Amino acid sequence: MRGEVQPQRWFFVCYDQLHHDAFPWAVVDRSSVGLIFIESLQKGRRRKYHKQKLALLLSNMRHFAIEAEALGHPVMYEKSSKGYREVLERLSKEVGAISMVVPAEREMRHELEPLVEAETLLFEPHAGWLTERSWFVETVGTTPPFRMDRFYQRVRKETGVLMLEGKPLGGKYSFDSENRMAWKGDPVPQVDPVFDVDSIDQEVNDFVMKTFPTNPGECDLSKVPTTRQQHLVALQWAKENMPHFGPYEDAMSEKSRTLFHSKLATSINLHRLSPREVITEMMATDSPLNSLEGFYRQMIWREYVHHVHEVTDGFRTLESYNHQTDQPNHLNQHNPLPDAYWGAKSGFNCLDSVVESVMDDGWTHHIPRLMILSNFASLLDINPRELTTWFHEAFIDAYDWVVEPNVLGMGTFAMGDVMMTKPYVSGTPYINKMSDFCSSCSLHPKKTCTVSNLYWAYLERHKSSFTGNMRMAMPLRSLAKRSEEKKVEDSMIYASTIEALRAGQKVTIQ
Ligand SMILES: Cc1cc2nc3c(=O)[nH]c(=O)nc-3n(C[C@H](O)[C@H](O)[C@H](O)COP(=O)(O)OP(=O)(O)OC[C@H]3O[C@@H](n4cnc5c(N)ncnc54)[C@H](O)[C@@H]3O)c2cc1C
Ligand code: SF4
Repeated sequence: MRGEVQPQRWFFVCYDQLHHDAFPWAVVDRSSVGLIFIESLQKGRRRKYHKQKLALLLSNMRHFAIEAEALGHPVMYEKSSKGYREVLERLSKEVGAISMVVPAEREMRHELEPLVEAETLLFEPHAGWLTERSWFVETVGTTPPFRMDRFYQRVRKETGVLMLEGKPLGGKYSFDSENRMAWKGDPVPQVDPVFDVDSIDQEVNDFVMKTFPTNPGECDLSKVPTTRQQHLVALQWAKENMPHFGPYEDAMSEKSRTLFHSKLATSINLHRLSPREVITEMMATDSPLNSLEGFYRQMIWREYVHHVHEVTDGFRTLESYNHQTDQPNHLNQHNPLPDAYWGAKSGFNCLDSVVESVMDDGWTHHIPRLMILSNFASLLDINPRELTTWFHEAFIDAYDWVVEPNVLGMGTFAMGDVMMTKPYVSGTPYINKMSDFCSSCSLHPKKTCTVSNLYWAYLERHKSSFTGNMRMAMPLRSLAKRSEEKKVEDSMIYASTIEALRAGQKVTIQ
């Protein structure tokens, strides 16, 4: 583009702002706004990202740049071994001050801070969120504990979504209790969409395989959308899942990893689909209220965790955040993440199946993330920061603003009661009820499975941290009734499980 007529402004488009119409470059005369894209090897090497995640990001960015050029934008596409700051500093010497929509990721904001201070980079508001900061501050506040309910009700009232004459449709705001059916094989879920792989996808695939050969996972861009057209196909596919989304939202199955989830976080977090267009389309489907409400609530969760992230600077303004160790760790959990999270078999079929899907796809739906991956990590006293880094690396939809509140604030109890009233932990009966993992496990859910022993051992180890927590009163009463003999057995099972997993071995039952 250099040498041709210069546009009036240049925008640096962050890798997760890939929408043609949601941001300030959506002007009538597209040639007046130039767009800058940067592929930074430094960023790619910051963590051991799943190959599929690297490929997803790069291919989407390359496709978006071509789409933008076709719309009339002048485009600069930089590939550099350096960081974003250095590249932008160099480019600003050629084109003057560069504009940018404020990045969602804290890491990016911090990297670019010196440029913003020097007014080399000019931040503009991010119009891609659905909710106002004032709605959050007025209902939740800026200090913990943070609770979602009042914020959610305020959003419903402000937006009028699923409301009739100022009242929630169906007479209540949440149909959470109608989102918990186990799935027994019927209705049959759709087959996952398969996308055409073009020459750009192929080039990205080869680049990732060559440049990041030792990173986890593989890439297969036929599994994820990379063009705007393909993202619209993904949205259509998600709409067809909606009628069954609500009832089976909490179910897990080896036979269908997706069940009726939308898989749209991948598209939404990149902004290939804007939250607004997703809501408009999904709410217009002919689906039962528990599906519509369940989906809308999840999208507002996304807004809520973003507000929590921003008002606390990623929890870092809170007392419970230990800056010296960068490790919020309310329960003092210090075990290293075992290789089982990278695919070594643990012998727990629920954990192994879910990890296999993460290694294959860089994705599982919400409940395996919460009630298998985070649950096991909690029960095994895995260090929460290590677990967060693993989620950040392994999941194709993970970015700091969303992964940190979800793992540190919800999946583990690392932030104490900042976001949750109690830890999400469970034993064998929950997993057996909500999934079919137990039917092909070498452990028997009622005879030899040790997950419940790990659950009791967890409660015993951490009971003093839960004293006075009303939501934990019942589990603690049940713990008090457990015999000393059983408690010794629980503790021994915990110790031998840790030892086996640390050695990369399967857990065996004596
Ligand atoms: C431990 C843990 C880690 C997680 N890490 C991430 C992450 O890195 N990135 C991410 O986008 N989500 C994360 N989530 C939230 C949620 O699990 C995923 O958004 C969801 O599973 C993505 O699949 P889907 O698009 O099919 O979602 P659906 O079940 O179809 O839900 C619809 C949409 O709601 C939004 N949503 C739902 N729950 C949440 C939530 N808790 N936080 C934010 N958005 C939500 C997503 O945009 C999602 O696409 C995490 C949850 C847990 C418990
Ligand atoms: S039997 Fe236990 S370890 Fe096996 S899948 Fe069920 S809950 Fe998991």
